[in-house]
Amino acid sequence: MAKIYVLGTANAIPKEGHENTHFLIQLGERNIMVDCSGNPIVHLAKAGVDLDQITDIVVTHFHPDHVTGLPLMLMGMWLQKRTRPLNIYGLEHTTERVKTMMELFDWKHWPGFFPVFFHSLPEQDMTLAINSPDFRLFTSPVKHFIPTIGLRMEFLLIEKSAAYSCDTEPCPQVVELARGVDVLIHEAAGHGTGHSSAEQAAAIARQAQARRLYLIHYDSAKIDPDQVLQEVKNIYPGKVALATDFMKIELD
Ligand SMILES: [Zn+2]
Repeated sequence: MAKIYVLGTANAIPKEGHENTHFLIQLGERNIMVDCSGNPIVHLAKAGVDLDQITDIVVTHFHPDHVTGLPLMLMGMWLQKRTRPLNIYGLEHTTERVKTMMELFDWKHWPGFFPVFFHSLPEQDMTLAINSPDFRLFTSPVKHFIPTIGLRMEFLLIEKSAAYSCDTEPCPQVVELARGVDVLIHEAAGHGTGHSSAEQAAAIARQAQARRLYLIHYDSAKIDPDQVLQEVKNIYPGKVALATDFMKIELD
């Protein structure tokens, strides 16, 4: 029982049907949000997940399209009278800014606020961020405009794995994170500094020998799915698809 529930697929400019990129890792009682875009409360409700079920939030980097849903989410949890603790993971660059953002909202004075534990991660390859008997999360710095992490998720009971490039241009860290994974979710915002094209994502997937590739964080206004998939198939022999909002990626 492990899946990744895609809640948004757009690059920095969302459009109807394509919210900014964020997703949920579901594994037993654990529900881990990766980034918080738009109003995640609405997207989670559509996915049938109650806010109280969220146990952890991984914030990949402090760009508006990845973090601006976080204050709404924390406020929603508080208004629902949440009592269970929440874990927030990110590089120190990110967690310090999240704290500052919440201080601007004066959250220290929101009465009865539930416990939030910040886990500041070092900018080191393959940092073990979550280590539990059924799940491990590794993070590595990737190549974006500001300090940013890519992820490797290992689902130990079912012996499956997944990786997420996050926003990055091609770099060896993503190949390492994605080495032999069942699922690689890779950004395809386009060729250029700090980002990757679909073809570059495919080359990374081939190098890492990932079994399935899902393209995400693409320009939903411009992308031609058939053309992209055709171009990518010449580079990467595995299964490839464009991620879409509310797509469920089953791992077992
Ligand atoms: Zn970014």
